[in-house]
Amino acid sequence: MVYLVGAGPGDPGLMTRRSLELIAGADVILYDRLVPAGALDGARPDAELRYVGKSPGASSASQEEINELLVEHGRTGAAVVRLKGGDPFVFGRGGEEAEALTAAGVPFEVVPGVTAGIAAPAYAGIPVTHRDEASAVAFVTGHEDPAKDASAIDWQALAAFPGTLVFYMGVRRLPEISARLIEAGRRSDEPAAVVERGTLPGQRTVTAPLAEIAEAAAGVKPPAVTLVGPVARLREGLAWIERRPLHGRRVVVTRARPQASGLAATLRGLGADVIEAPAIRIEPRPVEAELVGYDLVCFTSPNGVSLFFDALADRGADARSLAGAQVAAIGPGTARGLAAHGIRADFVPERSVAEALLEELGGFDVEGKRVLIPRAAEARDVLPDGLRERGADVDIVALYDTVGEPLEAPVAEALREADYVTFTSSSTVTRFLDANGGAVPNGARVVSIGPVTSATVREHGLEVHVEAERHDIDGLVEALVGDAAAT
Ligand code: SAH
Repeated sequence: MVYLVGAGPGDPGLMTRRSLELIAGADVILYDRLVPAGALDGARPDAELRYVGKSPGASSASQEEINELLVEHGRTGAAVVRLKGGDPFVFGRGGEEAEALTAAGVPFEVVPGVTAGIAAPAYAGIPVTHRDEASAVAFVTGHEDPAKDASAIDWQALAAFPGTLVFYMGVRRLPEISARLIEAGRRSDEPAAVVERGTLPGQRTVTAPLAEIAEAAAGVKPPAVTLVGPVARLREGLAWIERRPLHGRRVVVTRARPQASGLAATLRGLGADVIEAPAIRIEPRPVEAELVGYDLVCFTSPNGVSLFFDALADRGADARSLAGAQVAAIGPGTARGLAAHGIRADFVPERSVAEALLEELGGFDVEGKRVLIPRAAEARDVLPDGLRERGADVDIVALYDTVGEPLEAPVAEALREADYVTFTSSSTVTRFLDANGGAVPNGARVVSIGPVTSATVREHGLEVHVEAERHDIDGLVEALVGDAAAT
């Protein structure tokens, strides 16, 4: 089966549920240039991913070759996803591919996507129709290829069209497009807008009357759509992405990859351009130690929780191994990790630091009690030392090492424009600085999750510009938003 799938205009959040489902199950994915970043992250590791896109002006796999590939793969009975930007049937040549499949007798399905001609204006605060301003909308191709003849377009009909015109492609032909429209009778003072990189970080919108739009948008690069119509004026009141608290801010997330996505998504939701630069990676250690028979078990990180339960599972055990023990957790994420395994922590200090847990445990007599601390190999000894001082018999089990993750070249490049760097632990600080020659790129402002992380930043001779009041991810985001509003 071949699936002709739209991946939306660029914002990964605008991919449909069906598209993600099909990507996750695909044997083969043939994808284009304009698919959202991370669109293929959910593909199976053994899936064949093949780029068949074209760049403007450059020759690449021809449409005939793509059609042949689709037929060939489709005939094997594999699940083939043909992934395209926007909607597959809107200037995506999906129609031709469907015809080729039909001719070859290969079954296919079509999964519509959010098309750029609607989404880019929407993100620019321009509704393509409006009760008072436009009761029709036309999608028009501007043809990117200068060798192609634009005379395929009926300029008279377009000029007379009673509604909004949305041109795909053709940013380089904007002078010609606007001149032809005016020549054919479209008003020269009609509002127009060009939206570059719609729904993507760095989206840019230029507005001007039709007669001036080509000049105003001279610096615009593809992908961009051009919109002509009175609705373009509505942007003045409706521009909304620019109002988001982190709009235009480039924020670096240094957490380990599996943990980064939540923070990254929250920041993106607030309008930030997120650079994921994982500084650390968790490497589990083999666990030999006995994990049962303790009076108190203290978890200090979500990683510790999941690896603890992995270790239990490896030996055929489960949460019942904690029966009878008191359980403590540092940090709400750690407590949530435990809850996911059916364990409600008895002690969760307000502040997410070892000192606060010691305080919280003040009323709990640990004298002579057996305490287990499953945690990273490299960690502060505040908790075990404090408990031992009170007479506890403490065992530490090192579940994992936190190792440095090398910076990938495109990430290193993106870092040069960073406005903020976020640190969620001391190890992210140390490893990030290791990978960046001891400095924070671009003089970016440093955001720290709490005092322990801040101390590590200062030990490296750097300044902490923002420290979260609540030492968790939400607290960090709140502090960052506060700083962005003030600076
Ligand atoms: N099938 C796609 C369109 C493919 S043609 C869809 O439905 O959206 C490629 C053209 O789409 C580009 O030249 C540009 O005009 C437009 N386009 C695609 N992504 C865009 C984006 N993020 N912002 C603005 N225009 C975009």
